[in-house]
Amino acid sequence: MGLRRQLHKHRPRVKPHVAARGRSPNRYEGHGSYLLAVLHSTEGWNYDGTADLRGIVSFFGRSSTEASSQVCTDDDGLSARTVSDDDTAWHCAGFNDVSLGIEQIGFTKQRRWSRKEMKETARWLAQWSHEYGIPLRRGIVRGGTVVQSGVVTHKQLGVAGGGHTDPGSGYPVRRVIRWAKLYRALRYRQRRRHDNHRGRR
Ligand SMILES: [Zn+2]
Repeated sequence: MGLRRQLHKHRPRVKPHVAARGRSPNRYEGHGSYLLAVLHSTEGWNYDGTADLRGIVSFFGRSSTEASSQVCTDDDGLSARTVSDDDTAWHCAGFNDVSLGIEQIGFTKQRRWSRKEMKETARWLAQWSHEYGIPLRRGIVRGGTVVQSGVVTHKQLGVAGGGHTDPGSGYPVRRVIRWAKLYRALRYRQRRRHDNHRGRR
């Protein structure tokens, strides 16, 4: 069965589910014009339930960590929120103020990523595309400059982004972007249906 038909059959959840919430002090108020969504891995283990997400909330909650991201996803298909989309998180050095950051519980070295976690990440990409116009395509960055807006890995940002290598070569970027496009399409459709109903009253 194709992805699109699968999505229709199971009436999927299209919005991310925030199951753990904190407010990281590692942020600047406000932000620039969002051009990128940046994919990261936490370099930590997934645990059943929200223990992993609560761990991230507490890690980013300490000012000594000197890092943060807007959200984090796990392989239960749940999320943590640690910095508001209205503020700048500290996740990719020179690109912080033009990007939104997604941490994902897992390791750069891992070869497989769980479907639930990838779908939850895709829901954030769909939401941010909807709200901020970040295109659902691979972003391109060269020499510290955004050449094409879109979705990037932390590694793609190179030295200007802090010189990291996450989320690793086993990470399925294309598949996640494909899921995100479907979620975005479903969100539009659900909203349109809602508006139609309202119009008839
Ligand atoms: Zn990273």
